[in-house]
Amino acid sequence: MVVKLLRSPFVAAVAGGLAWTAAEYGLHRFAMHELRGRGLASREHLSHHADVTYFSPASKKLLSAAATTAVVFPLCSAVAGRRWAAAFTGGMVGTYFGYEVAHRRIHTHPPRSAYGRWARRSHLHHHFGAPMRNHGVTTNVWDRLFGSYDEPGVVTVPRRMAPEWMVDHEGRLRPEFAADYAVRGGAVRDRALAEADRADAFANTAPAV
Ligand SMILES: [Zn+2]
Ligand SMILES: [Zn+2]
Repeated sequence: MVVKLLRSPFVAAVAGGLAWTAAEYGLHRFAMHELRGRGLASREHLSHHADVTYFSPASKKLLSAAATTAVVFPLCSAVAGRRWAAAFTGGMVGTYFGYEVAHRRIHTHPPRSAYGRWARRSHLHHHFGAPMRNHGVTTNVWDRLFGSYDEPGVVTVPRRMAPEWMVDHEGRLRPEFAADYAVRGGAVRDRALAEADRADAFANTAPAV
């Protein structure tokens, strides 16, 4: 009975989704932050920390999804058969694209649920408070397991990096977010500041306020 259940494509797809959340944590922490700009993935990600409006182009994402599939599918296929492997890989890649959408929306759209509120506070704490904490974007399970989770508290955001949804047209924090964020400093990001932000991002240091 248990074996039969484990062999079902549904369970395989759910397992693939969970595997993605572990990969999301591991890749973000080790392949992106720990490598400090060595390698494409690390360079792209730390460029996103230096300039939060920068996101890797879709072509690079499709390439990484294809590369993941090329490794995961044959491995799973050898162990559990093609049908199971297809469902597992589908669950993993599907959750990966869900993560990509969720991460983008954290930066571009205001929260609409308790989960969305948490995801934004946690990820923006990662950006502006402690880049070596809160590596999980969609879940904090792995951060809790490996001791890298901070409760976000009130997140201080440099005004020049504040997401558009958080501030009004004059760069002031919108009152509905006063319990979660404080916005500090100037709105202008000149060349010197942009360079300092890049140096901080590649050193895994929070940007200056
Ligand atoms: Zn981000
Ligand atoms: Zn990061």
